[in-house]
Amino acid sequence: MTQLELARKGIISPQMSLVAQYEGVEAEFIRQGVSRGTIVIPANTKHTNLTPCGIGQGLKTKVNANIGTSSDFGNTGTELEKLKVAIDSGADTVMDLSTGGDISATRQAIIDSSPLPVGTVPIYQAAIGAIDRHGAIIKMTVDDLFAVIEEHARDGIDFITVHCGVTQSAIARLKQQGRVADVVSRGGAFLIGWIVYNERENPLYEQYDRLLELAREFDVTLSLGDGMRPGCLADATDRAQVEELLTLGELVQRAQQAGVQVMVEGPGHLPLNQIETNVQLQKAICKGAPFYVLGPLVTDIGAGYDHITGAIGGAIAAAAGTDFLCYVTPAEHLSLPDPEDVRQGVIASLIAAHAGDIVKGVKGAELWDRKMSAARKRLDWEEQARLSLDPERSHQVHGKHASAGAACSMCGEFCAMALMEKFLGISATRC
Ligand code: SF4
Repeated sequence: MTQLELARKGIISPQMSLVAQYEGVEAEFIRQGVSRGTIVIPANTKHTNLTPCGIGQGLKTKVNANIGTSSDFGNTGTELEKLKVAIDSGADTVMDLSTGGDISATRQAIIDSSPLPVGTVPIYQAAIGAIDRHGAIIKMTVDDLFAVIEEHARDGIDFITVHCGVTQSAIARLKQQGRVADVVSRGGAFLIGWIVYNERENPLYEQYDRLLELAREFDVTLSLGDGMRPGCLADATDRAQVEELLTLGELVQRAQQAGVQVMVEGPGHLPLNQIETNVQLQKAICKGAPFYVLGPLVTDIGAGYDHITGAIGGAIAAAAGTDFLCYVTPAEHLSLPDPEDVRQGVIASLIAAHAGDIVKGVKGAELWDRKMSAARKRLDWEEQARLSLDPERSHQVHGKHASAGAACSMCGEFCAMALMEKFLGISATRC
């Protein structure tokens, strides 16, 4: 049985108990959320070394780190290094988006080494396999695609992105819309090419029940992909994007009826003032299914710093109710990220997630900040480092310029915290 089926039967699974323990909530709260479909626990029955993680309403906002080879660069060793960096930096999940080298071997190595839930986008490997076997992505057969999905499920992948909403009618809407950046989803682009060339409906939509059967067998959580997501601010919240979302809302319902856990992916690039609207739209149309956003990036001009543009959008999205943030690294739009990009991307997204959690009222979020503030007031540098998202960097930066007293080198003997202690006798209270 899937976590969803167990929850509906009133059973609290070991995975639900572990998630409850981590979140500091009652296990019954988790069971109810899973049963309603507002919480998912991506936990493939074959992923034996998994530490389960809950994503959804009432829980800490989670952060995903994308790793994986490209056709130009990367090998399994490099990706395992990135996996370690992602885990050490505090990511909650990873996605293996490999499109180069031995894709199956890289995926298996990542699953074997990852206690975090692992996601993939199976159409990448299916499309590359179609080039090898038939000479072109558009020659991919439906069975090729489903064979890869089954391979990923059997290997132990916990969640898969499937662009089921890229339908013929969404493509017609896209053409009629006229966009600046057209389609920026790789999976979406592969499928659109296939649908147009073959003059057939998207197999992931047409044979959705087949997909559900596979997902149910291994309890793979479906992450309904947004192939029509805006790739620039000018295309945000347009008719093609909303058309796809309407379809995804229907597919959420069908997945849940079949006992399959499901979440929904969202933009992409969005102006600040459209983020909350997008979250509300998704939540209303998809009946509270967990929302997984890719960024969102709030401007198109941050090249080299898109972990910042993504974190600004991520914080607003999280505060508005988004459950899951896909990180953005400084390498976004420019190159395959290296391990240092992964570290910076994870930290930036964790800051965004936590900023959202404070507004959401997630248990413990506000207290964490209060403890940090009290440590600052006490000039307790060890505690400040311990409470920071990146203790090593906190130590490094503090030690950059030595200070004569207990304060840091910013204000030295004119430290406002120390002066208040001296003149007013105000000491920090412990939290
Ligand atoms: S020296 Fe300045 S920056 Fe450093 S702790 Fe004191 S008030 Fe803060």
